[in-house]
This record gives sequence, C-alpha cells and structure tokens, in this order.
Amino acid sequence: MSDADEDLKWGRSTVDTVCPLDCPDTCSLEVTVEKGKIVTIDGSDKQPVTDGYICGKVRRFGERVYGDARLLHPLIREGKRGSGFRRASWDEALGTIAARMLEIRDTTGAEAILPFSYGGSNGLLTQDTVDAQLFRQFGTSRLARTVCAIPTSTAHQALYGKMPGVTYPDYRHAKLIVVWGANPSSSGIHLVPHIKAAQEAGAALIVIDPRRTNLARQADVHLALRPGTDVVVALAIHRYLFERDLTDQQFLAEHTHGADQLRERAAEWTFDRAAEVAGLEPELLENVAEMYAEISPAVLRCGWGLERNRNGGNAALAVLALPAVAGKFGVRGGGYSMSNSAAWNLSAESWIGTPEPATRLVNMNRLGRALLEYRDPAVEMLFVYNCNPVATMPDQNRVLEGLAREDLFTVVFDQVMTDTAKLADVVLPATTFLESYDVAKSYGLSNLQLARPVIEPVGEARPNVEVFAELAARLELDAGAGASTDVEALLHLASALPEETSRELMDSGIVNGPADGRPTQFVDVFPRTPDGKVRLFPEELEGQSAIGLYRYRADPATQDYPLALISPATEKTINSTLGELRTRVANLQMHPDDAVQRALSTGDTVRIFNALGEVHCPVTLNADMRRGTVGLPKGLWRMSTLNGSTANALVSDELTDIGGGAVFNDARVEVARVLTAALDTQDLTLYAADTTEQVH
Ligand code: SF4
Repeated sequence: MSDADEDLKWGRSTVDTVCPLDCPDTCSLEVTVEKGKIVTIDGSDKQPVTDGYICGKVRRFGERVYGDARLLHPLIREGKRGSGFRRASWDEALGTIAARMLEIRDTTGAEAILPFSYGGSNGLLTQDTVDAQLFRQFGTSRLARTVCAIPTSTAHQALYGKMPGVTYPDYRHAKLIVVWGANPSSSGIHLVPHIKAAQEAGAALIVIDPRRTNLARQADVHLALRPGTDVVVALAIHRYLFERDLTDQQFLAEHTHGADQLRERAAEWTFDRAAEVAGLEPELLENVAEMYAEISPAVLRCGWGLERNRNGGNAALAVLALPAVAGKFGVRGGGYSMSNSAAWNLSAESWIGTPEPATRLVNMNRLGRALLEYRDPAVEMLFVYNCNPVATMPDQNRVLEGLAREDLFTVVFDQVMTDTAKLADVVLPATTFLESYDVAKSYGLSNLQLARPVIEPVGEARPNVEVFAELAARLELDAGAGASTDVEALLHLASALPEETSRELMDSGIVNGPADGRPTQFVDVFPRTPDGKVRLFPEELEGQSAIGLYRYRADPATQDYPLALISPATEKTINSTLGELRTRVANLQMHPDDAVQRALSTGDTVRIFNALGEVHCPVTLNADMRRGTVGLPKGLWRMSTLNGSTANALVSDELTDIGGGAVFNDARVEVARVLTAALDTQDLTLYAADTTEQVH
C-alpha cells in the first residue's frame, strides 16, 4: 500500500471521550488520532466544566500508551523472582493462572487467593464487573478497599447518607469558600477558576493545609495546621458556634439528630487548647470561626488530605458537620462538597448479581502483613489489577518482603511494567481508557460520561472485562456470561440505568446528575439517611472508633523521629499512575528552619528515616512547608529515589480511627545528610547522623 493509500485508509480524526482516572473532574476529552495513533489529547467543551483544557498529566498520556514501560503481550517469569520474563501467549498465560487457581482451591482452599485492585481507573467497567463475579463465585478472600477515601466516605455516609454536594460552577455564588485538606491546583484543577471568580466577586477564601499551596497564597486566611489535628480545629469552631448561640437552631431542630452530643464533645476544645495542639495562633483560629459564623453563602470543600492520619475519620465527621451546625444549607453556593460518587445511586451490586461470600476480608492497607503473617490459609496467590501496591500501600518494605516470597504466585494485570509487575509470576497487558469502552462517573461533579476507544488496543493488550470473562470460562464459572466484552458490558450497564438516562448517555455521551448537575443542598437534594435527617452523632461509629466520636489521638512524634512526613498529590501523577514518566529523582521538601537545625542546604542528599525504613533523595528548602513537617510526593515509583524506597516505606500499617484507612501522614521521621564519595571503583555512602557506613 502506498503512503497516500495509507493516509486515506486512516485519515485524521478527532474523537470525543472522557478521562476516567482517579480525579474529581472527569474531563471531556478531544483526542486527535492520525494513522491509528494518538497525536494529541486535549480538553473539550462537551462537559462545560472542562472548558477546553485539561491537566498536564493526561495531555501526556500518549507517552504511557506508547512508552517503553508499556506491556505489549503476556509475560511469564523466568528465573529468580524479579530477574526477568519470557513472552507468552494469552492462551498460555491464562491457562497457567487458571491451573494455579484450581490447584490452590483443591488443596488449600480458594481463600488462599487474594484479588487486589484499586483506583487505576475509576471507569465503571474496569472494576467490580466480571472480576467481582469471578472472584466471588470462586470463593477467594475479599479485599477491603481502604487505601483512600474510606474515612471521609464513612463519615459522609453516616452524617448525610452521601447527599450530593455543591458542584464547581456554584462556587461563584459563595461569599465564603473554605478549602480544607484539598489542593485543587494538583487534583481537581477545574475548581480553581470558579474559586477565583468568586474571589473577584468579593468572596473570602480560607485554606486549611499544612503547606502554603498556590491557593493558600491567594487566601484571606491560611491555617497551616499540624498534620493530624484537623479534628480539633473543627471542634473548636463547633464549640464557638454552640457557645455563642451562632448555630441555626431551627435547622438543627428540624433536620438533625445528635447536636447535643456533638456539643458536649466539642466543649473541651477552646481556641487556646485547639490552637496549641494544631500549632496555630489562637487569634487566627478564632478569626476563621467568626468568618464561618458570619458569612453566607459559605461552601466548604472537604478534601481527602485530612483523613490520612490516625484521627482521619473523626476529622471528616467534624468538618462535614460544620455546615449543618452553622446553618449553611438551602442556598446556592452554600453547603459542602465531598465526593459525589453516590449521586447516581448506582450500586455495583446490581451489576455483579452474585452475592458476596462470607470469605476472609483483608484490609488492603495491611498487604505486607497479609502476605507474611496471615494463616488459615496463608496467601498463596495475589491477583493484582488496576493497582500498583508497591508504590501505593503503607509499609512498603513489608509489602516488598511479602512479594519476594518464592512460594507466592503473583499475577499483575496492568498497562505498564510497574514496580509490582516486576515481581510477578505472570504479567498480563491491559488496555488504557483510550483503547476500550468505559463509563466514567464523576465524583467532583455529578455526570456520567461514555469513554470510547480512540485507537485499537496497543500490542496484545485486552480490556479487563474480556480477560476476566475468559479466565472465568477456563474455571468453568459463568462470570461474564452475556457480558464478556467491553461493548457487551457497556450495554449491560446501560440496561441497568433508568431508560432516559441510558438513552442520553448512549446518544450524547454525557448525562448530568441531580438538578442538572448543580444541586442546591436542602433544596434539590436531601440527606439519604433512613429518616432524611443529618445524623450529627452516628452511634454506630462511636463503637467502631477505639476512642469514640469527635475525639483526638495525640501526635505520634518521638524524640528520635520528630518530623511529620506528608506525601501529598502532585502535578505529575494520578496516585501512582504515570509514575513511570518521572525522569528526575524526587526531592524532600523541608522548611529552611528545620534544615538549619540539621545543617542541610538545597541539593544535599539526605536520608529520611524511622524504625520502618529509610529513603534517600536530595532535599529542597521550601518556606512553604510548615516547620516540623517535611514532604515527599505521593505515588512515587522506586526509581524516583536514590535507594528505591519511597515515602510509604516510612508509613506504618496502623489504621485510621474510623473506616480502617491508611495513616500516610502519621509517618514521623528524622532527616540527616548523606555524604557520598567515590573510592576507587566503589561508591561510599557515609551517613552524617550516626556512624553507619554503607558501601553500595
Ligand atoms: S486527571 Fe483530572 S484534570 Fe486531568 S484530564 Fe483527567 S479528569 Fe481532567
């Protein structure tokens, strides 16, 4: 075929689709394709909030699709674990997996198999469809997906039954915006222009975050609180509202339960006491409370940063309860924004159909312990998909030790060769969202959008639905029967939606949620609790939390490890997705005053350490960090530090007070300079903090 014929055959086209990755914005995309290859990825106006632009992460997603790390065909381990693979056919790879699953079921029992997935794509067809049917029917252990959003989600469910929240366009109607534990400049970028527009129209902005983020710089008040103390700051505001009779008593009487119990728990948190614990000026905290009491409409953006510590569940409860106590609902631009993922009342259960068996439930934050310590039965097979646990789970060294077990059979089904895939026995290549159908459900807005394939699958990559359906057939299960391809799964999902919603989604590719995607709380939407009221003191959680509701657990810092290490999201990755594209070693961010105490300068190589492990990387002095708090990026891959350990190597597998979430921001560390020198052909690494000497 001549070049001209080739051009004619493929042409150049622009395809509408959506970004289903783990980000609140679910941007509508315009992908330009030439000769069957992606040329550009940009935002479209189809979903108005996208407004024609997207983040730099997804603009470069083509580098993942065609990059060196892309998995093009199945692989089977050859030699020692981690040393390499040989190419295999799909038939051989799936046959090997099926044979091992059957063998485990017939010898130890299927609970020795642990499926492991989370957030690699938030598309409705990539998780909790045929995969869930298969694992349930086979009787494997179950996974509690708790690494993110579980404390906030549990609090939101208990208080409001996950009532849909204020969406971005309505921020323009607010006179006060409180951004608490969120950094929309890194994740959820489309909120920023709406906040700016509100500010230009006279709205005040309060940002609550240990770092001086871009948004914090433009705020009227920035509360740079100590990580893990959000709960006491919120309780001090509650106390102020109750003590000064600034609550909306009529609203509390008509629409809530439990205000007296909340008032009682908040009573001990004077501004002075809360400010001392949170490391703030009491006057600043009082100023925030006054602003919140006085200014309406006020919208509170509750992020996920505040849940990543031992007090995360109580923090989410106390923060989300504020609009109810202060009477901020019932007006456009007033109320709160949390996750809108429940706006559609879509339950994966109706898709899955197969009831969940009462098999062992494993908290994913304890993966390392599960692989090394769990018995009756021990985990013999780990099946990872949509996830890179080496990069994302707490207690990284324990996870690595578990994955190194020679008697563990690990399957990784992913788009690229991740740190976890390198340690697998069988690796399967998955399609990206640009190569198969999916449905994206927004959790920052409230729309559903259709993701269309814009190119043919790269190499031999296959969609999740198809692979799990074929595996199910080999296991003689009926999982995936009638929905064994992404197209069939899409039709199956569409048939479960209300007829009009389904038609609109299939015809136009987008359908808005309640009140045309812009609900006013307590006007268009109401709590979805059993009696429709806000439950300010959800009793069932009182027993779940070791110390009760609205309580504070003290900072875990010690004399040896005095610095709080946080690992916030950045502009480079979505969780750990796209981590393979980082070309530079990550830097530790540290306040200059903390650096002076340790004789550190920007560019010094440091060792960040505690009893669980250590990370080596350069340090950057950054006055935007809070004193006593240091930061490493979230979702780093092992190649992004000098010793192959990331922030998660310093995070314990302790759990949050409510929900069993991860406590990433409870890592307490010390930092010391590493002196490096070349000696003949060897590199010497000398640690300044003690006399340890390491040759590598
Ligand atoms: S990651 Fe977020 S901002 Fe970026 S394209 Fe996807 S939805 Fe939009």
